[in-house]
Amino acid sequence: MNIRVTVWGENVHEQINKVVAEVYPKTMHGTIAEFLNREAGIAATTVTLQDAEHGLTAEKLAETDVLIWWGHQAHGQVADAVVERVAEAVWGGMGIIFLHSAHFSKPFKRLMGTPCNLSWREAGERERLWVTSRQHPIARGLPDHFELEYEEMYGEPFGVPEPLETVFVSWFAGGEVFRSGLTYRRGAGNVFYFRPGHETYPTYHDANVQKVIGNAVRWAYNPLPRILDATDAPNRPVDKALEPITERGPRLHHDGEAGYR
Ligand code: ZN
Repeated sequence: MNIRVTVWGENVHEQINKVVAEVYPKTMHGTIAEFLNREAGIAATTVTLQDAEHGLTAEKLAETDVLIWWGHQAHGQVADAVVERVAEAVWGGMGIIFLHSAHFSKPFKRLMGTPCNLSWREAGERERLWVTSRQHPIARGLPDHFELEYEEMYGEPFGVPEPLETVFVSWFAGGEVFRSGLTYRRGAGNVFYFRPGHETYPTYHDANVQKVIGNAVRWAYNPLPRILDATDAPNRPVDKALEPITERGPRLHHDGEAGYR
């Protein structure tokens, strides 16, 4: 059975920037879906910001095992209701991979709960990614380091929570370093952030980058059934307790009376 991947593309730069359209004639999300579909066991489709509900209807999320998110210029145009729907799917077990400038996307910030800020520079400089977790499934088949000749710089400090694992650290020609491959779990969902992928550079045509994203899809996939009530907070009343229990203490929730009795 295939892992069902949905690649979400903002699809703005490709339409208005000639350089981006030339580097990614099949769009960025189309390029990512294409190389994923060359891998056995993965079936990728694409949706975009411009689709109704940004392509992320409840039905689409229900049939998505792993969601990949690339956005940059139009984070603010993503509807909050869709962001919440995505977060709930992650809490229920959907995997999600955030690429490059998705560090400032609404779903990433929602799931991290921190500013997710960083320093940056656009100078087409060399990035060297070091594998910092040799046995990690996301690093499978990679050399101990690899380079991207042209990339945007992202520098520390990166305003995210301490990750579960740091799989890659990047060094940039200008001297900065960055934790460029980070894993998290949010509810039942596996979350991976992967730094490279500035829109004017051919990063998603790079074989090592493609390998990372393919590995990350397999890592993020949770084969267990999706939890559909991940945000439920049920009351379990005294008379339904598994063991007999006597009610005591303040019961502000019921009658507003304070004090123990
Ligand atoms: Zn960028």
